[in-house]
Amino acid sequence: MSDDFDVNTVREALRVEREETVALIEQMASRLDAVIEATADSSSDDEHDPEGSTLAVERGHLVAQLERSRVRLDELDAALIRAESGDYGICEICGEQISAARLEALPAARLCITCATRYPTRRW
Ligand SMILES: [Zn+2]
Repeated sequence: MSDDFDVNTVREALRVEREETVALIEQMASRLDAVIEATADSSSDDEHDPEGSTLAVERGHLVAQLERSRVRLDELDAALIRAESGDYGICEICGEQISAARLEALPAARLCITCATRYPTRRW
């Protein structure tokens, strides 16, 4: 394998992942709506209603998952813009080329593996 990547392949991978993420967000959003509706229906207080508290827990999970997926969508959009502008695959911290293997595994990666290891709090 060369350390080169084909920007068209990358763009395609980003688009596919973006579509999957959008579909996932839609699924979770409609599930969240259903959960909110079910919670509103049960007028009894959550603490003494086992179903109510289960719904509250599920709602919490859904909100968190939705949040993560929306962040992911932003990352994918940003990566697509970089792919268009020609900045794609360049580490945002050190300016080095990100390895093709890493981009293949994480098409929206903004950092090379060295910087990603050095700054583990950065998501990408
Ligand atoms: Zn770097």
